[in-house]
Amino acid sequence: MSDNAQASAAPIVQLEKVNKYFGKLHVMQDIDLEITPGEVVVIIGASGSGKSTFIRCVNGLEEFQSGRIIVDGNELTPYGKGGKSLQTIRTEVGMVFQQFNLFPHLSVRANVTLAPTRVRGLDDAQASKIADRLLERVGISDQADKYPGQLSGGQQQRVALARALAMEPRLMLFDEPTSALDPEMIGEVLDAMRELASEGMTMMIVTHEMGFAREVADRVIFVHAGRIVEQGSPSQVFDHPQHERTQAFLSRVL
Ligand code: ADP
Ligand code: MG
Repeated sequence: MSDNAQASAAPIVQLEKVNKYFGKLHVMQDIDLEITPGEVVVIIGASGSGKSTFIRCVNGLEEFQSGRIIVDGNELTPYGKGGKSLQTIRTEVGMVFQQFNLFPHLSVRANVTLAPTRVRGLDDAQASKIADRLLERVGISDQADKYPGQLSGGQQQRVALARALAMEPRLMLFDEPTSALDPEMIGEVLDAMRELASEGMTMMIVTHEMGFAREVADRVIFVHAGRIVEQGSPSQVFDHPQHERTQAFLSRVL
């Protein structure tokens, strides 16, 4: 690892002229993006602008029609033919969805140990130790033996976060992680994400929590109709938006 310094400066996510269609709908239009390790990028934009599709493409959940997507040196090819790269990317990229997508028939701890035992080949004891540490880190170690249905939404989302972290991802993707939560539970999930950001995790986050975005983002990207219309630091985008689309969007949500 003698070229560590150089490696850490290389982008961990690279999109070059990515185009994606759903039938005739051009949902990603010439998207270019580079994210450096440790960077926290927040994607904002109206419903239907393509934010989910954008981040789903990054871990191969959506195929695309042209351009290049490279994640940590692994290239995804258009039309979903990722082969080995796709498998590698799936193990290196963690994702947290709006709906928590926990396994309802498994305990909280088993939800977190499943992938490490199945995919990383850890034994049960090793995986349990990691799970307990991560559950403690997201503040729910006392819930480990319960089932998802016995937890609040905020607790379930923190389990989902612990589950993703158990794979020791190089990159975390979040798609509106607090949108399905009651207002009083949003803070506890944002707190866990804030802590993760402060520890240096590379994160791509789609959210409507503008206060949170302003606080944690290194960069804010505004998406409209499948295009990156504007991007910059939180103060550039929130306080001095240049594009009229950004101004109109922010005037509705701020
Ligand atoms: P956002 O997350 O910003 O709300 P999406 O990425 O979910 O936007 O969707 C962008 C556009 O693509 C929308 O017009 C949506 O209806 C459309 N879309 C999303 N998923 C599909 C799909 N699987 N098939 C067809 N159209 C889709
Ligand atoms: Mg979405």
